[in-house]
Amino acid sequence: MSSTRFASFAISLPLHRVFDYQLETTSPAEPGTRYRLPFANRVKTGILLSDSDSSAYDRDKIKPVHGQIDEQPVLDAHILTLARWMSDYYLQPLGEVVFRCLPAYLRGLRPHHPARIKIWRLLDGVDDRIQQLRERSPRQYEICRALQDRPEGLNAVELKTININWHGVIKSLQRKDLVHWEWQNHPMMSAAPELPALTPEQKAIVQAIVPKLDQFGVHLLDGVTGSGKTEIYLRLIAARLDAGFQVIYLVPEIGLTSQLIDRITLRFGGCFAISHSGLTDLQRYRAWDRFRRGEVKIMLGTRSSLFSQCDKLGLIIVDEEHDHSYRQEDGIRYHARDVAIKRAHMLDIPILLGSATPSLESINNCDREHYHHHRLDQRATAFPPPPIELQDIRASQLEAGCSSATLARIEQHLNDRGQVLIYLNRRGFAPVVMCHDCGWQALCQNCDSRMTLHQSINRLLCHHCGYGWGLPAQCPACGHAEIKHHGIGTEQLEQGLSQRFAQVPVLRIDRDTIDSREAMKLRLQQLQTGEPCILVGTQMIAKGHDYPAITLSIVLDADQALFSASYRASERLAQTLLQVSGRSGRGDRAGEAIVQTRFPQHPLMQSLSRLKYREMVDELLAERRMLGLPPFARVVMFRADATELKAALGQLEVIREILTTFSGFTALSCIGPMPALMPRRIGRYRAQLALVGQDYAGLRGLLQQAMPKLAELSSTAGVSWNIDVDAYDL
Ligand code: ADP
Ligand code: ZN
Ligand code: ZN
Repeated sequence: MSSTRFASFAISLPLHRVFDYQLETTSPAEPGTRYRLPFANRVKTGILLSDSDSSAYDRDKIKPVHGQIDEQPVLDAHILTLARWMSDYYLQPLGEVVFRCLPAYLRGLRPHHPARIKIWRLLDGVDDRIQQLRERSPRQYEICRALQDRPEGLNAVELKTININWHGVIKSLQRKDLVHWEWQNHPMMSAAPELPALTPEQKAIVQAIVPKLDQFGVHLLDGVTGSGKTEIYLRLIAARLDAGFQVIYLVPEIGLTSQLIDRITLRFGGCFAISHSGLTDLQRYRAWDRFRRGEVKIMLGTRSSLFSQCDKLGLIIVDEEHDHSYRQEDGIRYHARDVAIKRAHMLDIPILLGSATPSLESINNCDREHYHHHRLDQRATAFPPPPIELQDIRASQLEAGCSSATLARIEQHLNDRGQVLIYLNRRGFAPVVMCHDCGWQALCQNCDSRMTLHQSINRLLCHHCGYGWGLPAQCPACGHAEIKHHGIGTEQLEQGLSQRFAQVPVLRIDRDTIDSREAMKLRLQQLQTGEPCILVGTQMIAKGHDYPAITLSIVLDADQALFSASYRASERLAQTLLQVSGRSGRGDRAGEAIVQTRFPQHPLMQSLSRLKYREMVDELLAERRMLGLPPFARVVMFRADATELKAALGQLEVIREILTTFSGFTALSCIGPMPALMPRRIGRYRAQLALVGQDYAGLRGLLQQAMPKLAELSSTAGVSWNIDVDAYDL
């Protein structure tokens, strides 16, 4: 007998409510199942949250569902519980949070069917014919060589890393009867290779954590760059896989981690899936599905891979836990590291956080004994991380952004057959373009920002909204014939260094030169050769790389951070400088690190050159405690944007008024409403209002009381607003 039931659904809308529909069913409906729902004359996807035989709404007004999309739930009960927690903690609409936990491919009406993966393999006895391709068809030869190395075959994602146009090449090879495809079976774990003997420090940590693998605990691996944290992750992953568990391994950016992928492949064969924003929705869905079905045991991915599901999750790893990219800054706002800790807690499993420069939050949690603190003070390789040398450039004439002393050092390292890494966090040719006659400056018409000169395409571009125009031949304001540019970006740096050091390759890595993993890989291959070269780049080169031939790291133009309005600037600068300097001296030669500065006496620069990270952190923590800032307080930020600044400020004033009516408001500091640091961006004016509270329970209590009232202030095209709980900055 079927009966009418009432079910609540999550729908992906920015509304703080769920939606009820009627369900004709013979058995209780399962939470996490997708349905087609009639919604405002359209069909929308809903995810069932709960059902009952009654409804709080008027029964007659409740519409029946159109039907079920999948037979089985696509979201596990555990993920739904996590989504509820996120919605509650981060004050984000439940419907949007629930949909965020699903791969984008499944957020619409597409049916979910277990993904099968095609793999291509060589046919037997074709080795001689492959040799013949060598001269005539190098691209076909290249793919055949890769297939020879992998008798179990290669899938589309893997083939694409060899040749971006792999599809055409494979088609030709199929026509020549060299290659055939089949559906992939379960991948095999490869035989464990010879493992390096752990250093005493590594060994002690592995031995301390292994007995705790069956219970919740947050373990911070606080280890200098190159101390062998990754090696510890891999050992602990192996321990969990042996016990029949699966593992989620989060990294900040995967485009950069092909070295890590190689290492995992070597250790665990094809037994892992990869998910990151460089893949298509279908590819990410397949990774999600394979992990869910247990076909692969490890999910290696960026932020949102945290929501991967499986039956037996046994460990979560968050590498570079201090990294910003774990914060989701638009749409649903959350911090993947913190949600990961919550998830581990719910499942009673361990979580490993690792960093050479842990966040102040995590160090504070270790000090308060909430986390287990494991320190690695020695590198696994021969030489310690280099100290930071300050290079005073006040009296220097710069050439290609470098002082003559810096250039001499580069030269010396290249002569000694070392590789040199230069970090400059500004892409383009020059950041300022102006007329010296009338003072005209190239500014963006949509943002409060300058236009950056990109000389290779002869255009001015805004790095905030992407708006661009051709470099004018004369001043648009006064007609003066000469327009000048100032400052230096990676494009100019590359050009200058190529002229100066014509004998070695200069490789540039930034968003303008790297549009794919393929492009990245190509550049990194150069580094891998170990031959002298100069690597120039933005933050894309700051972390994760392990190239033993790099003997000199240089940071140009770090001074801006010394005078930043952000209270986080010192922490961030310290992290960046240590990460960049930590790329150097990982091989059999000691490394050096130089930071060019006009403010060598600045206390922060002094600390950086003298102190260890931990000592700096202690200073910063003392300062934060005194000022009542995170991690000794929580920040909740309300942000609004509108077509006029007045409207954005007005909206926040309304929010402030609502907040003041609830008890506990006076115990908090309320900063704003005020214009954002860069008020106009992409044509909208932005403003902010911050609540800072040392009493977390009080702050939460107030927000929970206020939420129903705040939720009534819907965002419109004219003014939209949002809440950011645990906002990174003020
Ligand atoms: P981290 O993750 O702390 O930066 P890695 O695990 O990448 O450090 O190790 C840095 C380098 O040291 C790598 O090249 C790695 O292969 C090597 N390494 C790590 N542990 C050992 C060990 N026990 N013995 C020898 N080499 C090691
Ligand atoms: Zn002019
Ligand atoms: Zn702009």
